[in-house]
Amino acid sequence: MDFSRPIEIAEDIFWVGYIVPNDPFQCHAYVIRNKDESILIDPGSMITFPVVLEKIYKVVDLKDIKYVIMHHQDPDITGCYSTLESIMPYRDDRRIVTHWRTQALLKHYMWKTPFYLIDKHDWKLKAGDRELEFIFTPYAHFPGAFCTLDKKTKTLFSSDIFGAISDTFKFYADKSKEYLEGLFLFHKHYMPSKAILNYALKQIEEAKPKLIAPQHGSIIKEDLIDYVISKLKELECGLFFFESKESDIVLLNKTENILKKFFEDALINTHFEKVLENLFKYIKNEIPSLKEIVVISKFPNTKDSLIFKVDDKGVTKKICDSVREFKNYKVSYLLKAQDQKVGDIYIYAQELTPTQKKFLDILFKKISSPLAISLKKNLDYLFLEKTKNELYEKATKDNLTQVYNRSYLWNYLKSKIEEYRHNPYPLSLAILDIDFFKKINDTYGHLVGDEALKELAQLLKESLPPSFVVARYGGEEFVVVMPFTDIDKAYEYMENIRKKVENRKFTSKNINITVRIGVAQYKDGMSLQDFLFEADKKLYTAKKLGRNRVVK
Ligand code: GH3
Ligand code: MG
Ligand code: MG
Repeated sequence: MDFSRPIEIAEDIFWVGYIVPNDPFQCHAYVIRNKDESILIDPGSMITFPVVLEKIYKVVDLKDIKYVIMHHQDPDITGCYSTLESIMPYRDDRRIVTHWRTQALLKHYMWKTPFYLIDKHDWKLKAGDRELEFIFTPYAHFPGAFCTLDKKTKTLFSSDIFGAISDTFKFYADKSKEYLEGLFLFHKHYMPSKAILNYALKQIEEAKPKLIAPQHGSIIKEDLIDYVISKLKELECGLFFFESKESDIVLLNKTENILKKFFEDALINTHFEKVLENLFKYIKNEIPSLKEIVVISKFPNTKDSLIFKVDDKGVTKKICDSVREFKNYKVSYLLKAQDQKVGDIYIYAQELTPTQKKFLDILFKKISSPLAISLKKNLDYLFLEKTKNELYEKATKDNLTQVYNRSYLWNYLKSKIEEYRHNPYPLSLAILDIDFFKKINDTYGHLVGDEALKELAQLLKESLPPSFVVARYGGEEFVVVMPFTDIDKAYEYMENIRKKVENRKFTSKNINITVRIGVAQYKDGMSLQDFLFEADKKLYTAKKLGRNRVVK
C-alpha cells in the first residue's frame, strides 16, 4: 500500500492521514469527497498537518470543504485548524460540526468558522446527496463523544472507539495477537468503564456499519466488525485497573460486579433464600474463609424469630425464640427497608483482613436495603401462608374436638369415591355413636360432656393410622374413613377402638363410656349417601343388639 497518497477506503471516502515514524499512536484524518459540500473529518495536529494537507489537495479543493467534523477537542484533532482555517478560501457556509460539549471548549480557540451542533440538528447532517448520522457515545472517552455514520456507504467514523496502539502500523485490522493487544491497551486506558464502553458498542452495533474508520489504530472491514465488537465487550476498562489491589476504587469496582449479579437475583428470584444463597457464593469468591451468613428477623405478629442460615451446604430456615448464639459474630449489618428495621445479617468468616472488612462495608451499604425488601417480601409471604393455613384449619375442623368437620368429610368422601371409580380399591367407613350420651350431660353438665367428646376425638386420632380421616358427624357421632382397608380389617380397627373406650375413664369425673359402631365397605355404584346409610344401618343394628358393640 502506498501511504504517501490518499487511500480510498469506500466510495468517495479517503484516508488522508500521516503515519508518524516511530509513534505507536497514529492519528487518522479522513475526507468525504462530496462536490462542493465535501467533508473533512478530524483534521489532526500540527505534527501531521503538512502531509495531511498535501493529501487533502489530492482529493478535493480546499474551497470545496464545507464541513469539518471534530469528534472531540483534543489537540491531535484540532491542533492544525487555526492554520488550516487561515489558508482555506473563505466561504460563509463552512461549519465545524461537533457536539455542544466540544464547542464549549473549542470556542476558546476563537476560530472564525461557525459551529453546526449535531445535538441541535436531530443528530443528522445533510450535505448535498450525502446524509450523515451521528451516534452519541457519551464518555467514550469524552463526555460529548460521538461517532459519525455515512449512510450511503455505511462507513462509521468512530473517533476514539476502536482505536489501537501498536509499534507496527497496520492499515486494516486483523485477528493477530498484536492487533488485539493494541486494541485492548488503548481501550483499557481511555474508556472510563466496561459499562460505558458497552453502551457505546451497543449504539454502534444498532447502526450496522460496514466499515469502521477510527481516529487511531486500524480500519476495520465488515467481516471483522462483529469479532472486534465481541472482544471489546468483554474488556474490563478504566484507569483504576492499574491501581493497587487494596484501593477503594478497586473495591468499588469489585462490589459493582457483585451488585449487578445481586440485583438480577433479587429481581428474578421471588425466594429470599435463593437470593441469600447466591449472595453467599459471591462473597465467598472474594472472602474464601467465609463460613456462614445468618439473617435474623422477627416473624410477623409473633414473639418468634425467623432465622435463615447459609453455608457451603445451602440455606436452612427455622423459627425459634433464641438468637443469642449469633450475637457474638463480629460483622453484622442492619437490614432496613424504608427506614424500618426488617432484620440483621451476621457474617462469620474464619479470618477477615481489613480490606475484606472494607469490601463488606461497601457492599452492604449498597445491598442492605434491597436485601431487606426481599426479606420483607418473604416474611409477608410466610405470614400470609400461615394465615391461609389457619383459615383453612378453621374452615375444615370442628371447633370443639379439632377433628374434621362435616363439610370437610363430605368433600373428602366425594373425592375418595371419585378415585374409586377410576381405580377401585377397598374403602371402608365407620359411624360411631356414644351410648346414652344424654345421660352424661344430664348427670355432669354440658361442659363435662364437651370434655368427654374432646377426649374421645383425641383417642380416635391417636389410635388410628394417619391415613384415616376422623370427622365429627353430628352431636356425639363420629365418622372414620378408612382408605385401602376392607371391611374385616376395618372391623378390627373399630373393635380395638370400642375396647379402648370401654376400658378407659373419661374426664376428671372418671366417667365410663361405651360406643357402638357401624362399619360398611364401599361397593360399586354406591352414592355418598348410600355409603353413609349402609354404615348407619349397621349402627342401628348395634343399638338394637344392646349397644357397646361393632357391627359390620
Ligand atoms: P343413644 O344411646 O340412643 O345414642 O342415646 P344418646 O343420649 O347418646 O343419644 P341422643 O341422640 O338421644 O342424645 C345425644 C345427646 O348429645 C343430646 C345432646 O344434648 C348431646 N350433644 C350433642 N352435641 C353436644 C355437644 O356438643 N356437647 C355436649 N355436651 N352434648 C352434646
Ligand atoms: Mg346419637
Ligand atoms: Mg348416643
